[in-house]
Formats: sequence, structure tokens, C-alpha cells
Amino acid sequence: MAKSFYDVLGVSKDASADEIKSAYRKLARQYHPDLHPGDEEAANKFKEVSEAYETLSDPQKREAYDNPSPFGGGGGFEGFSGFGGGFGGGGGSIFDSIFDMFGGGGGRSSSSSRRESVGEDITLDLKLTFEEAAFGVQKEVTFTRDEPCTTCNGTGAKDGTKFKTCGTCGGTGRVKYTQETPFGRIVSERVCSTCRGKGKIIEENCPDCNGKGINRRTVKLKVNIPAGVETGQVMTVRGEGEKVANGRAGNLQLVIEVTNHPIFKRVGADLYVDLPVTFIQATLGEKVAIPTLKGTELQFSLSEGIASGTVLKLKGHGITTKRGTGDMYVTVLVDLPKKLSKDQKAKLKELADLFKSDQYDKIKEFNKKNKQ
Ligand SMILES: [Zn+2]
Ligand SMILES: [Zn+2]
Repeated sequence: MAKSFYDVLGVSKDASADEIKSAYRKLARQYHPDLHPGDEEAANKFKEVSEAYETLSDPQKREAYDNPSPFGGGGGFEGFSGFGGGFGGGGGSIFDSIFDMFGGGGGRSSSSSRRESVGEDITLDLKLTFEEAAFGVQKEVTFTRDEPCTTCNGTGAKDGTKFKTCGTCGGTGRVKYTQETPFGRIVSERVCSTCRGKGKIIEENCPDCNGKGINRRTVKLKVNIPAGVETGQVMTVRGEGEKVANGRAGNLQLVIEVTNHPIFKRVGADLYVDLPVTFIQATLGEKVAIPTLKGTELQFSLSEGIASGTVLKLKGHGITTKRGTGDMYVTVLVDLPKKLSKDQKAKLKELADLFKSDQYDKIKEFNKKNKQ
């Protein structure tokens, strides 16, 4: 694999612009062809370093480099990190519309992506009940985000037309400047700071956004949460983050938090429940009712003399996710009665005398081993 541009410059992925610049300067000085005439290795190195700097010094190119073709592959909705099932389906959800907006086309042209500005992501916590997470749910989330002002179409200018040509750059949006470097004078161009590269400046501000071109809006968004999500998973809804006037909107990141259930626990698609039964039920092997997450009950016949702690596996009674259906594991816990009345005690003692010691499997086995 080729070295990343960050590796080439010897900086970390989150290096600041200044760190990148200073790393580049150091390396450029080290490998500059003028200082190594005829040295092909140095020339290559210099080329490599320059190439890396060209991309990493430009915030937009760097962004594009860090997040290569986010719309490639057609999938508008990225889905959950760490959630293999993926999405799709759901019917008429926000995901479908996002998919339509960005998907299918197979990415943008490189020329437009280079100049594109990108909105920030918005991260929200999304609390779900145990059942909502298990079965999937449609949730409405409410949040605020920047959206281009509709009055001025995000231009910031009154009526969208009150502009004048920028005097600093004469409308080109870029200004030339010269720099003295160890290798001589270099004439470079940079974005005009007066008009921020737009080439024109606002004559009269749009009254609705005060010339910012952006307004803060409250958004209500319906999102379809698929079955089987877990605490800590992050669901990405593409294009629903901060919006920018001329560019791509950021994403909405929903951080899932699932509340506990009073009796059920979940691991993946499997459900776990502890089921207390009376010693009579366990001894006689009676039919017991096992609750389900849907609120119904399953009838289950215990085997006669079932031991406390026995785990029953009810196949296919877990939850159903895109990856399949899980099982339910029921741990039978034999509950012994307390605070017995005199009469109850007397009857139990009477009963106890009726049992032979070899009717107790474990005691019989224990005694046998103990004698050896
Ligand atoms: Zn406006
Ligand atoms: Zn300008």
C-alpha cells in the first residue's frame, strides 16, 4: 500500500495546518532538487512531499482525501458502524429519500468536489426502549442546524442580487503574493480574504440572515431504526447535518442508547431471562408460562425434577434482525417457600418421609463419591 500523505510529511492525521506547513518546509528544504543536483532519489522524495503538501494544505482537498468519495458505491445511507446487517427496506423512510438524493449516481465529478464546502456533522443521542431497539422503530428526532437562508438563497445579499465586485481581487477571488524562500522568490496565489474567494461582496445584507446566508433552524426528522440496534452504535443519516450554501451537507450521527429491560437481557439477537418456578412445579415437571418481549406467553413443560439453574434454549424466540432470528435462553430458578406455617412444616415432614434417598439424583451421587 502506498504511504499516506500524512506519512510522507511525517505528521499525524489530525495535524493542524501549521504543523503540516512546517513539516513540509522542513522536508522541502531537505530534498529540494537545487540542493541535490542529479540525485534522483531526492528529486522523487521532493516530488512526493510536494504532492502530499498540495493536498493536505488545501482544506477542501484534505477533506476529500480524508473521506474518499463518500457517495461512491451508490449507497446514500451509510448504516451503523459495527452493525453488519446493514439497512435498506423500511419503506418510505428518510433513508430511502437520502438514498435517492445521493445514491445511484455514483459520486460527483472531481472538479466539483474539490471546491465543495462541507457542512459539519451533527451528533445526537438517541434513547430507545429495550423493545424499540429489539423490534425496530420509527423515531422523530428534533434538533437545530444551519440551513442556507431561503430568502437570499444562501448568498447573504438582499434579494439575492445586491453584490458588487470585490475591490481587493478585482472579482477573481484570488490574489497573487510573493514570498522569499531559501530557494528564491516564489509567486503564489491565495484566496482573497476580502471576499473569501467569491470575487464579489455584498452591497446590502439580506434582512433575514443578516448577510450570513445561513439561518439556524429547528428540524424534525423521522428516522427508521432497524431491529437489533445496541447501545453505543452510531447510525449515520447522510446529508442531514449542518447544511451549507454551496456544498454538501454534513451527516446526522445518532448515538444509540438502549434502556435496560426489567426482566430481559439481550446479546445480539438472543434474549436471556431468569424464570423463577416453585419447587412443586420443578419437582412435578409442570407446565409454566414464559413471558416474551412482545407481552405474550409461551407455555413450556418443565422436565420432572428439573434442577435449579438449568438453561432452556427456546430456538427462534429471540429477536429478528436483518441478520436472522435469535434464540431465547431461559434460566430456571427453583424458588423455595419461606415463612412456612406450622401446618405446612408438618405436612412437608410427613411428605419427606415418603421419599427414598435414591430418588434424589445429586444426593445419591454425592454420597457415593463421598464414600470412595
Ligand atoms: Zn438571507
Ligand atoms: Zn476578493
